[in-house]
Amino acid sequence: MRCPACGSEDTHVTETRVSEDGVEIRRRRRCLACDRRFKTVERIELSLPYVVKKNGARLEFDEKKLRASFLLALRKRPVPAEIVDASVRKVEEKLAASGEREVSTQRIGELVMLELKKLDKVAYIRFASVYRSFQDVAEFQELVAEVSPRSGGGSSPGSAAARKRSGAKTRGA
Ligand SMILES: [Zn+2]
Repeated sequence: MRCPACGSEDTHVTETRVSEDGVEIRRRRRCLACDRRFKTVERIELSLPYVVKKNGARLEFDEKKLRASFLLALRKRPVPAEIVDASVRKVEEKLAASGEREVSTQRIGELVMLELKKLDKVAYIRFASVYRSFQDVAEFQELVAEVSPRSGGGSSPGSAAARKRSGAKTRGA
């Protein structure tokens, strides 16, 4: 590993750490020529499928886009960045493990929903309400009930979204 400051190849590993989930190795290194310290990360490279959009377009898998979907749903929610990273990684691992060459954006959406459901209920409903095209209010209310067994308050984000989606056909909660 070449020193980023002086270019010397004479560098030394001072510390090695394996991440909790075992998929990442982080090393602290020191340049023996100029004493510059730097870090490196080693990760298993997942072989991810191509993403097929609804219109049939085939795109290379983009981790940034996946993370962006999580961050959008989790906006202003109290979920730490490293937990989000772990969820992004989990979705990627599932996709890689599937062994498929292609995956639909819909399938990715479902996997994101599964993770969000474990992370944060508000984010889950937020994502689901945008992502799924609900047939009717009942379907949406089922989803809200699914994640909040004791719901019924008129001020929950779920019911607000349900009202918005249902338009004129709002039913009493
Ligand atoms: Zn150096």
